[in-house]
Amino acid sequence: MKNILAIHTGGTISMSQNDKGEVVPSAHNPIAAQTTILAGWVQLITDELFNLPSPHVTPARMLEIQQRIVRAEAAGIDGVVITHGTDTLEETAYFLDLTLPNTIPVVVTGAMRSSNQVGSDGLYNFHSAIEVAAADVSRDKGVLVVMNDEIHTARYVTKTHTTNVATFRTPTFGPIGLIAHGTPTYFQQLIQQTTCDIDHVVDGVYLLKAYAGMDGTFFDALANDRTRGLVIEGLGAGNLPPRTLPSVQRLLDRQIPIVLVSRCYNGVAEDIYDYQGGGIELRKMGLHLCQGLNGQKARIKLLVGLSAGLQGPQLTDFLRTAVS
Ligand code: ASP
Repeated sequence: MKNILAIHTGGTISMSQNDKGEVVPSAHNPIAAQTTILAGWVQLITDELFNLPSPHVTPARMLEIQQRIVRAEAAGIDGVVITHGTDTLEETAYFLDLTLPNTIPVVVTGAMRSSNQVGSDGLYNFHSAIEVAAADVSRDKGVLVVMNDEIHTARYVTKTHTTNVATFRTPTFGPIGLIAHGTPTYFQQLIQQTTCDIDHVVDGVYLLKAYAGMDGTFFDALANDRTRGLVIEGLGAGNLPPRTLPSVQRLLDRQIPIVLVSRCYNGVAEDIYDYQGGGIELRKMGLHLCQGLNGQKARIKLLVGLSAGLQGPQLTDFLRTAVS
């Protein structure tokens, strides 16, 4: 029988609706008590690590989850399931993907409807996540996100809807697997990437979104000693309005690494355009183009790389996501 560690961290999956219809956290986590449905086919070890709405989860909390998993792996656990609020689930999942050795299955799940709402998806997703974590075929796949009968990679999945249970999608590439009648089946394999076993997380890594007519105001506000790195969600294939450029250059002059992704939902950032503020100029200025990641994932990647002490060409290599 497989030993599966369930780490509960909070979110809607552990919340309930009160008599006014408001969704609220409670001291007692209803999902953590749900172990009887699994009796017989896995040995479930439950750890209520913390109980936070996911907007309260910080990189330091993500590291706490990572360290718990590292300890469990050393003790011989077969797989891990993490329940988490959906708002920042993709960031925690990707943080773990970048910082764990990625051998045993590690599966993150959550819910869009709280535990006592009609059609609650929490218990179902939790059960599916355990099925995925207990399957040998789920090994060596990186951290996975399981919701609504689909298996996504932590690297590319994103929350796309405020309330719909089918909120988690993988734009451009699609889910890597499905769960039907309790059996996970995979259709794609991720390209392996470098991971970093970090022991602390740095602050001062920021994310800005470009817009038509943007100027340097936000960039100038970041020109200080607290800023360690910046991710910009650029326009289209990866371009910026010209009025931002002098301020972007001032940040680069301070040796602040800047990563460029696209604010588009689909596609990858590329240096295609050769006009003022186009991707070609931005690459020549020294911005790192990070292909396929959304802004919040690129920020986690930059934060992990900086926390590992990477700089220069090592950081550039670490930020690379595709092979061409
Ligand atoms: N606001 C909630 C959270 O992220 C949403 C959810 O869990 O679905 O904690």
